[in-house]
Amino acid sequence: MLEAKLGRTGLFVNKDGFGALPLQRADMRTAVAILQRALDSGIDYFDTARAYTDSEEKIGKAIAYRRSSFILATKTGAKTPDAFWKDLETSLTLLKTDHIDVYQFHNPDYCPKPDDGTGMYEAMLEARQQGKIRFIGITNHRRHIAKEAAESELYDILQYPINYLSTPEEVELTQLCMQKNVGFIAMKALSGGLLTDLALSRSWLAMLVNVVPIWGIQRENELTGLVKAITGSIIPEEEMKKRIEKDRAELSGEFCRACGYCLPCPAGIEIFSCARMSLMLRRSVPALWLTPEWQEKMSKINNCIGCGHCKAHCPYGLDTPNLLKKNYEGYKTFL
Ligand code: SF4
Ligand code: SF4
Repeated sequence: MLEAKLGRTGLFVNKDGFGALPLQRADMRTAVAILQRALDSGIDYFDTARAYTDSEEKIGKAIAYRRSSFILATKTGAKTPDAFWKDLETSLTLLKTDHIDVYQFHNPDYCPKPDDGTGMYEAMLEARQQGKIRFIGITNHRRHIAKEAAESELYDILQYPINYLSTPEEVELTQLCMQKNVGFIAMKALSGGLLTDLALSRSWLAMLVNVVPIWGIQRENELTGLVKAITGSIIPEEEMKKRIEKDRAELSGEFCRACGYCLPCPAGIEIFSCARMSLMLRRSVPALWLTPEWQEKMSKINNCIGCGHCKAHCPYGLDTPNLLKKNYEGYKTFL
């Protein structure tokens, strides 16, 4: 297993962390078993969020009694200091702990700073003063906000999507964080399900020595695969390059990264799934995407009112309504 230092926090963790978002979809028994086995396997960075329904509760039930053995990170999407304190107290209660190691602003649409008039950064400082949190973090899908946070010297940890499909500018953020001594947590290490070779993704991320990917786990067999990958050897660079090139060629051009920044859609379309359906059909088991539930989700594309909100908010410059239409046309050929 590899180890990584989380910037100025001075914390050393297993280079491969645990992302607890998908645990929402696991029942309590399965979630508890997964979390305990993950910790037993040497994974010691666990990331969740107030917004992930019962994910915090599951972590509290499963591993709170081993609190000193892992680093605990959660997030608040609060927009006011009052909501911030309410979230923090709820998280502490559900996680059954008296402190959170890394407390993160959850994908805000600006970079909170002292004296910006919101009082949000001051709330973080106060929480740290009270010993309820140890380090201040921020997560974001927008590169300019992530960059601002890294440059600001105000954040100990930045969480941002990074994988081998990322652009050079996005990868540069990891170098900026290294220079600024900011810990870097990588979300979407498998690009929201588009990348299917865990060993390859993990080998590529291993080259970014300061980056800790958090792998989303929902099933026990996924954990088995993850443990196998993180205890296995790194794929040699030449072979890795060839395999990545092949994948990049297949995924070149315009594709949806599933960041969800284009939501909400007034027509209720789950854009981050529907706009990448053709790729999911090609790269995973088609039957998974052809259920009545998915057919209903895809049929909502017909209800697009052309408001342009998605296109205007897509950080990758996608013509989202068009992409949705194309995906729906392709989807219908599978039915
Ligand atoms: S243009 Fe269509 S898909 Fe995009 S946000 Fe508006 S209604 Fe939704
Ligand atoms: S369409 Fe753009 S903004 Fe929406 S989920 Fe995909 S990449 Fe993100």
